Amino acid sequence: MPSFSYRYTCVRCATPQTWGTIRYRCHVCGQNLRIQRKADADSPSAMDIVTTFRESETEGMWRYVALLPVEAHWGSRLRVGGTPLIDCGDDGGVRLRIKDEARNPSGSLKDRATELVLAVAKRAGCTGAVTASTGNAGASLACIAAAQAMAATVVVPASTPFAKLAQIRAYGANVYEIGGTYDDAFEIAERMADDALLCCRNTGVNPFTREGKKTCAYEIAEAMAWHVPDWVIVPTGDGNILSGIAAGFLDLFALGITSAIPRLMAAQAHSADSIARDWTTYDETVALPVSPTAVTPNTVADSLSVSQPRDHFAALHALRATRGTCVVVNDECIAAASRTLAQRFGLWYEPSAAAGYAALQAGFASGRIQTGAEVVLLGTGSGLKSPQCFDDVTRPPACALAVLPEGHAPGEHGPLHRGTCP
Ligand SMILES: *Cc1c(COP(=O)(O)O)cnc(C)c1O
Ligand SMILES: [Zn+2]
Repeated sequence: MPSFSYRYTCVRCATPQTWGTIRYRCHVCGQNLRIQRKADADSPSAMDIVTTFRESETEGMWRYVALLPVEAHWGSRLRVGGTPLIDCGDDGGVRLRIKDEARNPSGSLKDRATELVLAVAKRAGCTGAVTASTGNAGASLACIAAAQAMAATVVVPASTPFAKLAQIRAYGANVYEIGGTYDDAFEIAERMADDALLCCRNTGVNPFTREGKKTCAYEIAEAMAWHVPDWVIVPTGDGNILSGIAAGFLDLFALGITSAIPRLMAAQAHSADSIARDWTTYDETVALPVSPTAVTPNTVADSLSVSQPRDHFAALHALRATRGTCVVVNDECIAAASRTLAQRFGLWYEPSAAAGYAALQAGFASGRIQTGAEVVLLGTGSGLKSPQCFDDVTRPPACALAVLPEGHAPGEHGPLHRGTCP
């Protein structure tokens, strides 16, 4: 099938830059780049594209290869994407569906970005990749790099949850736990990637992160028979999921595959609410500030804990293009939302993902989301990743012995059998 041609353009000054090598920043203003697909006379039609989706034998994100800037054979053999859109029925007045991204190989939506970034890196001849991370991007890089036989280096702040660190180490990545913040980690990782054989996966700065994440939007639309929901709720830190999801829905609309664009609601944690602040003061007629408002995060939502969002231009554009909005939620509401999702639907998410559900409740209470609206919530990461946030589940139950049937004492069946490693 014929394919598209591509180029990079700057998210801020729109300067086009040539395709060919992996580029990270605009050579004019230093901001992030986006990837632009160019249609020409022999590009496939919307019908052709949808036919390739339907006839694809791939279950994961490579099913959408017709709209991706790299060939599928560069991908890993892990199944990334292809996650279920779970119909939760009527939930307190809205029609709720949850996109369960916890089922990705490393347990978060980040795998979509990493899968695409590493496919492009492999094609370019890179032997390894480095990323800054609050935990999930690192776990994702470590996981998919292992499957691609590439070396992974992860730079994390000291505040990274233990479970995420354990995961990164289990996959064999080199880990640098630095004394500073995620922002410091970001700069260190970018400097390490000066070597051309080392790809930098840093969120937003690597334009292919957004391209990978947009496949989540394609899956949502396809699961709804190319009809789109009224709202998609996106937990937001750096703003790269937000801009990736917007890119996916805008793509489908521009191609005529869907006839509407859902509104996006960015869910941010209190104290990590830079995008919400900049959105409130956003004025289309005035140039955006070059750097985002810096905040000092202190929240249980560790994946949203960023001081200066690394994809803020693209995130603000995403909100504008989708007539979106931002909702800021506090830790108490986030923890309660995580518990409710687990106990009502059997879906346990880390606090950062649950922030989306808290935002939905706040958005509904304030009337921004109307009764009967169709809402898709992104369940961006598994609850197993940050169990330390849930005192009541990590505390040992006080009544463990009381529930044993009479006559059975602990240890009655003798010591546990222990096998030996070969
Ligand atoms: C990274 C992440 C987010 C936020 O994504 P950004 O692109 O940083 O806005 C939300 N939830 C989870 C679980 C994540 O890992
Ligand atoms: Zn620029």
